[in-house]
Order: sequence, then structure tokens, then C-alpha cells
Amino acid sequence: MSAIDAPSTTGTVDIETVVGRFGDLPTVAPIAMRVIEMVDDENVGVNELADVIATDPGLASRLLRLANSAAYSRGQPVTSLSRAAMLLGLRTLKMVTLGFTLIQRRPPEVPIDGTMIWRRSLATAVVGRRLAASLGAEMTEDGFTAGLLSNIGKTALLEEPVYVAAVQDRGLWLDPAGEIEALGFHSDELTARILDGWQLPVQLSEAIWSRHPAADDETPTPLGSVLRLADHASALILGDDPDHLARAFDQCRLAAAHLGLTMDEVEQVVAMVSPELDDLAGSFDLEAISPSSVDDLVRQAQSRLAAITLDVASQLGEQQHRNDELVETNQELAAAASTDALTGLPNRRTFDAFLGNQVASRQRHPRESALGLIVMDLDKFKSVNDTYGHAVGDEVLVETGKRLGGGSRRGELVARTGGEEFALILPEIAAGDLQGAGERIRKLFVDAPIDTSVGPLPITMSLGATWVTDAAASTEKEIYERADAALYDAKEGGRNRVMIRPPA
Ligand code: GH3
Ligand code: MG
Ligand code: MG
Repeated sequence: MSAIDAPSTTGTVDIETVVGRFGDLPTVAPIAMRVIEMVDDENVGVNELADVIATDPGLASRLLRLANSAAYSRGQPVTSLSRAAMLLGLRTLKMVTLGFTLIQRRPPEVPIDGTMIWRRSLATAVVGRRLAASLGAEMTEDGFTAGLLSNIGKTALLEEPVYVAAVQDRGLWLDPAGEIEALGFHSDELTARILDGWQLPVQLSEAIWSRHPAADDETPTPLGSVLRLADHASALILGDDPDHLARAFDQCRLAAAHLGLTMDEVEQVVAMVSPELDDLAGSFDLEAISPSSVDDLVRQAQSRLAAITLDVASQLGEQQHRNDELVETNQELAAAASTDALTGLPNRRTFDAFLGNQVASRQRHPRESALGLIVMDLDKFKSVNDTYGHAVGDEVLVETGKRLGGGSRRGELVARTGGEEFALILPEIAAGDLQGAGERIRKLFVDAPIDTSVGPLPITMSLGATWVTDAAASTEKEIYERADAALYDAKEGGRNRVMIRPPA
């Protein structure tokens, strides 16, 4: 999926014109251009590069600051440009040079503060780098540079009166649907095309262009998924869209689940990056970013969420802006790819991604606690369908989803993995606690019949559980099959019970 394949010229602003204006490289300072050319030339060594950078004191001091920032520093202060260049790596050096240079490009007098965009990009870069690092070393630097460059389209658009008017009306962080309505295209498309015009590595533009898929059959590239999560997480960190905090939190959780990460893990990343953000903000001459404490943000988001739920009834009569509907449709499409329509729980795809990521993360960082998996299957469910009809069967499934969702704890993921099959991933559990965890779930059903339109129905479930501590010796397939075998034991043993199969 390349930006070039899908030109959008039908809107109120001509995308080609904006790309053209940002495509003329003289806007990039000559020294920066020279650095970028040199990085592409295999014959140029780091020392030569350092010599050229040194001729621009502003650029030199920014790069030194970056090399000494918490994001890159290895403890010893870096004082020479050639060491800085080696530490950052040639690719990062090139991208960051470009980023620094662009920031110096002040848009003409506009009533919008463009530094907000860079602030968000910077936060996205730093969070993106950490997330990419946790998913695979080879993406690490791309996570930073893609984040840093991810909002160039928005910056370019600050020179378009139509866009400025839309932003003044509805806020700087117009979502894709709002942008398409105002412009006829979406700023990520513009960003991708500008970057393609600069002949930057195509995986950067592809990631940016794919990060907010318009349809549920499109998936972001892996780097695009990282960017999407990093973008939502930065919205939370910066709190620069307070009215939509609850939405940002929700989107963050969805994007995280898509990458197989829990919100706990995202919060850890956010807590880790805050010193980096302060450091880097300095090298970009922005005010230091001090993220409000993550707990506060989460609490704020949750109380907003509660308020919104209470408000729903009174809002129903109100005329809703067309934009809101588009936003919802887009969110529904994104959610559809990762959640099950009947129960609203994460679906099999999200479950697989989450389990795979948990196993991979343990292979990289072995832990003493166990990774637990419980698979569940409703007992004699076919007879519910046969006796009362499929619609009543569906009512039972919906209530089952509610009980399981309500019964799971922070950090755990409960999913509908099949027709009347569910699963719970417990990323941190003592092996000895697994039986108890299974019993608690079993009791959620034994203790209370499920109310349906044909009256209360007694429903039980069978559970199979297993765990793994030495993830290096396992694959997610083996773990799943072992839990499934334990479930079979539970069915064979008479149903309505929890059986455990320990690791071989
Ligand atoms: P067991 O205790 O051995 O699991 O018996 P069971 O009847 O639950 O097992 P079986 O696998 O034979 O039946 C599962 C049933 O679940 C069959 C299928 O019709 C039903 N089912 C699967 N998906 C849905 C769904 O989305 N809605 C409804 N109502 N039923 C479903
Ligand atoms: Mg079944
Ligand atoms: Mg069954």
C-alpha cells in the first residue's frame, strides 16, 4: 500500500500542490542536505560526516545533546561529533538531521501554534522507539524516526487556510475522517507522499500511511502498529486533547492489544520515557514536556468514561455533528478487526497476537513468574441452541462474555477464541495459583444461572489450564495445545471442572 497508488485530488485542497511545496528541498538547510547525501554515500566515513556537521554549530550541538540524552547515552558523556555519529548510527543521524532542520522551518504567520505538532511528534518518536525496541531490535531506530516525521503533513497543512479554519473550529487533532471531510485527503497520506518525495526509506512512509487503517481488512505494517500505539499514547501523555482523553485511552488500549501488549506494559513504557522526553525537548528547543503522572491520566480517562456513559441518554436527543458519526464508523471499523462482534471481547486474532507477544517477551527477558493460560468451553451448549433456539444461545454467550470480562484482572486478556470457547491469558501468575484462578471463573457460572428471555438457565463450563515459566522451551502453539488437552481432560472427567496439565 503506497501513497502513490491512491492519489486524492478530489477534495477542497489539491494534495499535489502541497506535496510540491514541501518537495522543494531548498527548504532543508544546505548543511543538512549535505549530511543526508553523505549518509547515502557508502564511501563516506563517520569522521568526514562529523566534519561537515561541525560547520553548523546549531546542528552540531543538537546532535551532541541527543547523543547525551537518556535515550541514547551509555553512561559516559559524548563530547566528540564522530562518537555521537557512531552512537546514533548513520540512519538515525540522517533522519534526525532532517527532523531538526524541519523544526527550524517556521511556517508563515498562522494563528495556530505549530510547536504542538512537533511536541506530539517528539513524544510519538520517543514512545515509538521504546515500543519498537520491545518488539524487535531491528525496528528500534525506525520507531524513533517514523514518529518524529509522522506529522509533517499536518505541519505542511498549516499553510492551507481551509485546514487552519477546520482546526480552529474543531481542534488541532482532527481525526482522519475530519481531515478527509475538510480537505479531501488525510494528513498521513500527505506525510507519506512528502517523505516519498524526499526519497526516505519506503517503510517509513508505508508505516505512517498505514497506521490508521480506513477499513478493517487493512492492517498496519508492524511499524505502523507501533506508530499507531505511540501516537495514541502520546495523546495521553501530553493530554493535549482533554475532551477526548477517554477516547485516546480506549484507542490506546485497542492499539496495544493489537500488538499483544497490556495497558500495564504501555504504562511502563510511558513511565520510562518521561526523562527522555524532557532531555529531547531541550534539544528541539521546545518547552520541557512533563507528562502528568500516568496514574492520574488513567484515572482522569476512566472518570471521563464514566461521565460519558451517564451522559449518553441526554445526548441521544442532541443533533450530533456529522464528523462524530464518521469518527464512530472509523472506530467501529478499527475495533471490528480486533474484537468479537457478539460479545465485544477481543477476538481470536487479538488473542493470538497477545499470547505470541507474551511468549516472545519472556524469551527475551526470562521471568520467575509463570505465564498462565486457561481455555474454557461451555458445557452441553448445543442443547441450549437445540432446546431454545440460536438467539437464546447468543444471549448466553453475551452474558458469558460479560462475566468473564468482569472477572478478569488488570494485565490479563480474556478473549472469545471460537463459537462457545473462551480463553484467559494471565501474564504474571504463580503456577500454584492457577487452579484457584480457574475455580473463580467456574464459580462465576455455577453460582448464578444466566438470565435469558426464556428464563434463567443453569450454565456450566469446563476449564483447562497450563502454564510456562521457561518460555525459551515453548511455542505458543504448544502452550495452547496443552491447555486444550487439559480442557479435554475436564470434559472427560464429567465437565464443570478445572483440570491442569503442567509443562512437560
Ligand atoms: P460439550 O460439553 O462437549 O462442549 O458440548 P457442547 O454441546 O457444548 O459441544 P459442541 O461443540 O458439540 O457444541 C458447540 C455448539 O456451539 C455448537 C454450535 O451450534 C454452538 N455455537 C457455536 N457458535 C455459536 C454462536 O455464535 N451462537 C450460538 N447460539 N451457538 C453457537
Ligand atoms: Mg466447543
Ligand atoms: Mg461446548
